[in-house]
Amino acid sequence: MITFSELNLAPPLLKALAEQGYETPTPIQAQSIPHLLQGRDLLGLAQTGTGKTAAFALPILNHLNAHPKVAGPKKPRVLVLAPTRELVSQISESFKAYARHMKFTQAVVFGGVGQGRQVEAMRRGVDVLVAAPGRLLDLIGQGYIDLSGLEVLVLDEADRMLDMGFVRDIRRIMTYLPAKRQTLLFSATMPRSIADLANSLLHDPAKVEVTPPSSTVDRIQQAVMFVEGTDKRDALLTLVESPKVARAVVFTLMKHEANKVAEFLNKNNVVAEAIHGNKSQGARERAMSGFRAGSVKVLVATDIAARGIDVDDVSHVFNYDLPNVPESYVHRIGRTARAGRDGWAVSFCDPEQRAWLRDIEKTIGKPIPVVRDHPWHSESAEVSTMRPPVLGGGGRGRGGPPRGGNGGGGGRGRGGPPRGGNGGGGRPGGGGRSGGGASSGRGRAF
Ligand code: AMP
Repeated sequence: MITFSELNLAPPLLKALAEQGYETPTPIQAQSIPHLLQGRDLLGLAQTGTGKTAAFALPILNHLNAHPKVAGPKKPRVLVLAPTRELVSQISESFKAYARHMKFTQAVVFGGVGQGRQVEAMRRGVDVLVAAPGRLLDLIGQGYIDLSGLEVLVLDEADRMLDMGFVRDIRRIMTYLPAKRQTLLFSATMPRSIADLANSLLHDPAKVEVTPPSSTVDRIQQAVMFVEGTDKRDALLTLVESPKVARAVVFTLMKHEANKVAEFLNKNNVVAEAIHGNKSQGARERAMSGFRAGSVKVLVATDIAARGIDVDDVSHVFNYDLPNVPESYVHRIGRTARAGRDGWAVSFCDPEQRAWLRDIEKTIGKPIPVVRDHPWHSESAEVSTMRPPVLGGGGRGRGGPPRGGNGGGGGRGRGGPPRGGNGGGGRPGGGGRSGGGASSGRGRAF
């Protein structure tokens, strides 16, 4: 197995990695870093949890370390574009951690907070700018950021940026970039729209693909419970009260539902916080740091807000609502079983969402074990043939177009990451009644 020093990274980086406790490169790192050190463009098919941040941050820092230059005011040398504030912050934290033994400056730019500090940071000049597209364009428009000296561009979670309606913003940002640059594009999925974007931005890219989910997803114990919508709260409360639940992320489809679920849990003495696009940046950061520190047991999130949540010891993911886009199921459950740990992913399926479960099972290539041994089991949800609700823009995401416009066909079953990999049944405890034998509704395996 290759080591970080065999990848020819500079000593200050090797030192920081050792301090981070990174012993060996992850597959995406081992595959990408050599190409990137040679200055090649890269198309990376990988999702959060694979170590992709270090896969691009390390060669970028290596380049900055080897070619020190004072960044001019307003002119970043490197731009990393990411879809959400959370992800921008996390990427920036990673850069800081890896660059702690070298000279390096950086700034973050995202909306939802005042622009004063961001403008001031840019005025002083930064090596690396990590930005969300909307605010970046704003500041470019106001003359506070000049991308003409850019050496490296990274688009992270490109599929999610397109899903969130940023495609026009990205195209506009591209018009400000110099032709000669190194460009990296990372995406968890490769629908047509991403392939087109990659074709227009990348020159002869090295292509790297990792499928973490087959290893990650293998460690996730999945279960589905058929319940009526009205029973979901009680079922959730009982599950999260179990001492086996150390830290849980609960997913809802709608922001208002996330609020209601968090409120209900708090009323019942389970400390929970909702995070979604309507929350202020401060509120989201407080929720995340409480969750990291352990004072918040449950984070209730919508898909887009949860993007990039990177907390290693989430023991359980609960899908209070199933997602209407099958790939989101994979993203959601990947919040658990990280860093080599085990994890549980328990989904509630009500009669209206039954069709989505079929789509999800098609995408992941196997059935999700059903647990029927609980007080809320609904036969009618299990056999339901109801049409799922049509979701409009209103409650979703940032009020942009309804998720990539693929509510119907387009995005479905397009080779989502974990596909196949681990065959059909054979999962221990699969096929239902894997609730650990307890029948009281408490203290189950999940
Ligand atoms: P990412 O996919 O970039 O979100 O990274 C997922 C997690 O893996 C983060 O918590 C990183 O700190 C961690 N990580 C990244 N690379 C390594 C590595 N080579 N060894 C151990 N942990 C890593």
